[in-house]
This record gives sequence, C-alpha cells and structure tokens, in this order.
Amino acid sequence: MNELEQQLHYPLGETLPDSGRCIEVAPGVKWIRMALPFALNHINLWLLRDRVDGTEGWSIVDCCIHREEAKSHWESVFANELDGLPVLRVIATHMHPDHIGLAHWLCARWQAPLFISAADFLVAHMLVTGADAASTERTVQFYAQHGLNDAETARKLRERKPYFASLVPSVPDQYHRLLDGGHLQIGAHRWTCISGYGHAPEHMALYCADLGVLIGGDMMLPRISTNVSVHEQEPEADALTLFLSSIDRFLPLPVDTLVLPSHGKPFTGLHTRIQQLHDHHRERLAEVLQACGEKPCSAADVLPVLFKRPLDFHQITFALGEAVAHLHALWHGGQLQRQQDAEGVLRFRTHKSFTTEGQRRP
Ligand SMILES: [Zn+2]
Repeated sequence: MNELEQQLHYPLGETLPDSGRCIEVAPGVKWIRMALPFALNHINLWLLRDRVDGTEGWSIVDCCIHREEAKSHWESVFANELDGLPVLRVIATHMHPDHIGLAHWLCARWQAPLFISAADFLVAHMLVTGADAASTERTVQFYAQHGLNDAETARKLRERKPYFASLVPSVPDQYHRLLDGGHLQIGAHRWTCISGYGHAPEHMALYCADLGVLIGGDMMLPRISTNVSVHEQEPEADALTLFLSSIDRFLPLPVDTLVLPSHGKPFTGLHTRIQQLHDHHRERLAEVLQACGEKPCSAADVLPVLFKRPLDFHQITFALGEAVAHLHALWHGGQLQRQQDAEGVLRFRTHKSFTTEGQRRP
C-alpha cells in the first residue's frame, strides 16, 4: 500500500471475492472481481438486488471484456449468487471495453435491456465496426502533430489491430438512456446518476443515499489515477479540466460514503481521494509548465517529464493522450501558447503573460 492509499480506509481489508463468488458490500449489493488479461489485471462488477414490473431479480453494473473466461466466470456467478432469480437489467457506467464488452451477450442471455448514457452508447456503436483506413491515418497524423512523427511509430500504428472491436464484438441496438441527475429505482432503493467527463464521453456514476454507496466506475479509483487522455476523434479536447471539475461533483456526498471503484478495493475517504487527485494533477501540470518555460515542448517532449519510467509502444499510446491532456489544460487555461513548427509539430511554450511558475506577470 502506498503512502496516499494509507489515508483511505478499506472496510473489507484485503478480502477479495473468490472466483465465481461475490461479497455482499451493502444490503443487496454484491461485488464480483473478474480477471483482465492486461497490466490492469482485474475489473470490479456489481450485482444489485432488483425488482422490475413485479418480477424479482438482479441488475448487473458493468460487464467485463468479450472473452470465454469472462463468460464462464459469469455463468458461475449466475449459478452461485442469484438465488435462482433472473438478471433484469444490464447497466454500463461507460463504453470502455472492460465495462461494455459483454453487454451484448448478457442482454441476450437474459433478455435484459442495456442502460447507459447516450454519448457512450453512440460512441460504442461507432467504434465497434473497427478503425477504417481513414481513421488510422488521422491517428498517425495526430501522433505526428504531437511529436511522434517517425516512420517506426507510423508503421506500428498502421499495424495495430483495432483495439476496441477486438474486445467488443457488438453492442446492443437498443438502450435506456442514463441522464445526469436522473434516478433509477433498483429494488428497494433509488440511485442517482452523476455524469463525469474527461475519461469517457459521458461516464455515469451511481449514488444511493439510502445505502450510502457510490458506484464510482472509473471516475473514482483508490490506487491508480484514472486515465485522462485526448484522442484523435476530439483533438482539441480539454479532458483534464473536465475530469477535475467532474470529480468535484462528488464533494457534496457524505464523508462516510462507501465508494465502489471499477479497479481496486471498496473504500471510504472519498473527499481525501478527490483532494489527492487534484494534488497529483496540479504537480504534473507544474512540471509540464516548467518544461515548457525552458523550451517549446511537444507532447512527445513532455512524456519523460510525466512518466519517469521507460514506456513500451502500448504504454506510449496511453501516455501520449495523457501528455496532450496536460498540455491542453494549460493551453486552454491561457498559461501556454501553441505554435506549429516547420515540420508540423505542435509546440507549447509559456504564455508571455505568465511566469514558468504559472503566475500572471504584473
Ligand atoms: Zn474506463
């Protein structure tokens, strides 16, 4: 456990759900932990005791990626944990593959509808067909503009198999729209949708005041910081500013709220964690500003500033988006100005009205 994690509290200690079994973390709320074949090696999924139109059953929150191991894990959960009742609804916090990958299968398996935000439903449909040649070339151009303009990077990007489509073969054709501030009656309890931006198009966290539980999805993780990236589809996005203002929307929740994150363990200490994430990004932004005060920097130039360890190509694809997000927060905030050099690379340097410490000049 790192120093920051020690400031949080894990009510269940080191206990994790066994494979195919759940742990009840609040009345009628069960925790499932499924393996993922990535560096981020697991995802948490939730079962909520539900009742729809007089029928008793369960709602599922998040689905895992499309693969046989996950399907058989789900079948064990169905056999062991549903008390013989059906799944009535499938809810996805957002459209990333580990959250929506098996939604098509779960919805068909139980004849259950999908609940998700409109933006995430539509973007998932857009990506499920895979990257076409034009979008691959836009990605190559995006990397080149941000300083990764070597032939090797372009070759690797063109050879990369479509990431999303390989983990999400299809998405249900119909959905029920989750809207910010909207309510879902799930069994005996009312849950409120809280939208969040900067990580996914329109992430929905779910909060239940009766139970004092927040299903935080990827917007509120205890150990790792959420990936906040700018992508080629929205190349000028200010994702980091959106993310930081989104997590502040959890500030009105009670201090003893039990947070159920998509990765890591259920925790309390929500307000401490919000502050930690602000501190973390403020420090990173200060480092980026410092670097851009010394010389005009592309996103590729700030990779070693933000990431002190060597990165492989897969990690670079995530890291570049994060680097652009940090540069854009400072650029949209007026502290950096942007210029395109003769090679077409976008370079950021301290705006002349600011010092490298980010103070406005008198
Ligand atoms: Zn995600």
